[in-house]
Amino acid sequence: MSAIQRIATRETELGAGLSIRRALPTRHRRMVGAWCFLDHIGPIDFAPDAGLHVGAHPHIGLQTFTWPVAGEILHRDSLGNEQLIRPGQVNLMTAGHGIAHTEDSPQPGQHLHAAQLWIALPPEQRDCPPDFAHYPDLPTWTTDGARFTLLAGHYQNNHAPTRIHTPLLGLDIAATTDATLDLPLQTEFEYGLLPLLGHITAAGETLGSDEFLYLEPGRDRLQLKLPAGSKVLLLGGEPFTAPLQMWWNFVAGDRASIAEAQRQWENDDPRFGPVGDGSAPRLMPPPLPSTWG
Ligand code: MN
Repeated sequence: MSAIQRIATRETELGAGLSIRRALPTRHRRMVGAWCFLDHIGPIDFAPDAGLHVGAHPHIGLQTFTWPVAGEILHRDSLGNEQLIRPGQVNLMTAGHGIAHTEDSPQPGQHLHAAQLWIALPPEQRDCPPDFAHYPDLPTWTTDGARFTLLAGHYQNNHAPTRIHTPLLGLDIAATTDATLDLPLQTEFEYGLLPLLGHITAAGETLGSDEFLYLEPGRDRLQLKLPAGSKVLLLGGEPFTAPLQMWWNFVAGDRASIAEAQRQWENDDPRFGPVGDGSAPRLMPPPLPSTWG
């Protein structure tokens, strides 16, 4: 049987005072397939005058993938898109050569709970033109007391419409009653599980949202026990083997490409156009590591 790794999620801050838990990357695990970033935001009840406000920031070489569990997020980007996203929907922004965006609560005082993910683009797509897509309808089905929503890739006879560029799986599983599931897996995929609500038992390991479970390739089934009301995000993919550098909001094959993008963002280069009317604060990266030369 293939190895299992239990990894503590890492508490960090997203902007001013909003505490989130980061499951990817950590010191112990960078990626699951091309999934290279996973933040668990909330659940949080914002104060009557507060909300999520992530100022304008750039991306290259990746796709951002937003999956709200509860509450709403307003996306704006430098292509001119403005899209409110609600639970059950996916926002997929392909940064490619470069894009900038903001994310905001549409109103103060809301409840918010979401998973925010990034997908590393393969080398041949890294420099593609930027794009944004909103997916209001995803395949859903109910089996053995659990409601499944397919976010990315294919699973059994279901195919997600989300446009991705490497073999991946994104599957949300929510238990409507106590559920015991025996799920088929692809042996060439590695997998990761993050509980979004409650505690779950996967492959004999019980965990809550402070832990991420990694399963290496070679497994063809997964036993899951989900108490009523629990919810888990199952990610999968073929191990990503191309060279990859991640720094701040940038993904590239080498450090020089990241250093160039950072310099351009700092100098307000047209590679990353303004977001909306340009009134949102522009977030700035930390200085590049001195070891990069
Ligand atoms: Mn972003």
